[in-house]
Amino acid sequence: MDYNEKGYLSGNSLCQYVRAWAEKVGVMKYIRLNTTVEQVIRQGGEKYSWKCRIGDDKILLSKKLIVATGISSTPRYPDLDYSKFLGPAIHHRYFGERYEELVSENVKEVVVYGASKSGLDAVMQLAEAGKNIKWIIRKEGRGPPWILDLRGSRSDLTLMRIFNALAPSTYQDDGFPGLHYVFKQTFLGKAVQKYALQKFRDLVIKGYKLDSPDLDERLAPMVSNHSPIWHYNVSGTDNYDTSLYDRICSGQIEVIRDTITSLDGTKIMLDSGTSLTADAVVFATGFKTTMPFFAEDVAMRIGLPSTKYTEEYLTKWTHLETEANKKIYKANPILQTAPKPPPYFLSNHEAGKLRLYHYILPTDPEFLDGSLVILGSFSAASTLQSAMIVSLWAAAYMVGKIELPSQEEIVETAAYEIRTHQIKTPGMVNDLPWISFDFLAYSTMMLKELGLNPWRKGRWYDELVSPYTCQDYGDLAREWVEEHGTVENFDNTRNGSDSI
Ligand SMILES: Cc1cc2nc3c(=O)[nH]c(=O)nc-3n(C[C@H](O)[C@H](O)[C@H](O)COP(=O)(O)OP(=O)(O)OC[C@H]3O[C@@H](n4cnc5c(N)ncnc54)[C@H](O)[C@@H]3O)c2cc1C
Repeated sequence: MDYNEKGYLSGNSLCQYVRAWAEKVGVMKYIRLNTTVEQVIRQGGEKYSWKCRIGDDKILLSKKLIVATGISSTPRYPDLDYSKFLGPAIHHRYFGERYEELVSENVKEVVVYGASKSGLDAVMQLAEAGKNIKWIIRKEGRGPPWILDLRGSRSDLTLMRIFNALAPSTYQDDGFPGLHYVFKQTFLGKAVQKYALQKFRDLVIKGYKLDSPDLDERLAPMVSNHSPIWHYNVSGTDNYDTSLYDRICSGQIEVIRDTITSLDGTKIMLDSGTSLTADAVVFATGFKTTMPFFAEDVAMRIGLPSTKYTEEYLTKWTHLETEANKKIYKANPILQTAPKPPPYFLSNHEAGKLRLYHYILPTDPEFLDGSLVILGSFSAASTLQSAMIVSLWAAAYMVGKIELPSQEEIVETAAYEIRTHQIKTPGMVNDLPWISFDFLAYSTMMLKELGLNPWRKGRWYDELVSPYTCQDYGDLAREWVEEHGTVENFDNTRNGSDSI
């Protein structure tokens, strides 16, 4: 395993670790690598509910389907013709595959387009490889990403219940309703909450001396008005050895707030009328939240983004989401002051919402037969802890051990969950739901539904201020089995799926 100077594991080591783990627990034999699912067809009323086409002629039939294809598989390109550009012009999705081309000797100047997390990573990795970078960030976009120094106990903040109670939250039934009430509904508590949200931005800015009166003007475009808590701007962990801001001050990375209008030869034209030259371009323009293997009408019914929304569907969800808005602002009055999303976000016809129950289940009753779950459709403060809880919940649901509420409650909850995400994190309206300070309340709800104890610290004081780590959840699956037993005669993936 190799770690960098800041103590972060390298990508190669992480990959090695995951491989070793997969070998150790014996899942490798169930994995078909380099295999793409091209199409998934619902077979209502049949013995096998799902038919998956892999490649041109291979079909897998199965009774259960877990979709875990992530949200960074389908690149979102800018509306530009880059066919006349002479050097490599790639989406960040292919950064790893085409890394050697990007760092080759011929490439000296690289344009990175987009202020996403992938933009931040591309800029830092290419700078580490000695390239000069022009980082172009659209004027009308969200603006620069925040980098957060989360070393030591700083990253623990999102994993403490006290901060869940302080921050705007989707779920407030986490055992401390009094605290939520104080911070969200009382005059004094709301003042503390407002102060804390602003202070969070001030601390980040102070930490990097971005508030200095003699701030290097090259850093000015990197300072956003909005607190990182709103996720108006993307944020990422400051996990590189050399500081981004030092590289900007040294001139190796130049930040340009402009829009690319065209690319020709080695020339890149900008909306402001200026132009620059580059040997390579990386489009760090994000990913589409889409699962293209479902037909558009099926995607709509499942609750995934679709280009075939019907009038009936849109009317139903507009009503549900309007009602949800009222509940959300009532539970979190501070959200009235949240920044509004950039206007062009709302007019992006490609963007659609993930309207899922608890970010996992479809809401259409036809698909609530225990045969389908969607995993990884949201991002949490801690991917590891959330993966452990969500996958257990999904497995319990699939074997019929989760009691669902009425159909009416399912759709109302899904509308409430997606709208809270959109209001609470206005910069991510078109992206996947983002659970940050809400994670402990979410996990409390999920563990209660699993019939497991969500309060695992022993003392109320520790519950509030001691961060939840993976160790706290380490034995969840065993605990669940002790409670419910193993599921005998269940058609699991091995005997429940046939390949033809
Ligand atoms: C640029 C960037 C930087 C990030 N940095 C961090 C970070 O520093 N820390 C952190 O915790 N998280 C980070 N994340 C988030 C993290 O990568 C995700 O939370 C995590 O990878 C999600 O895991 P997943 O298994 O849900 O999806 P993925 O890791 O995306 O896995 C999905 C898999 O499904 C496969 N797949 C997709 N479509 C098909 C298909 N049709 N057929 C077959 N297979 C298919 C894909 O090839 C992929 O292997 C970052 C994400 C990005 C994009």
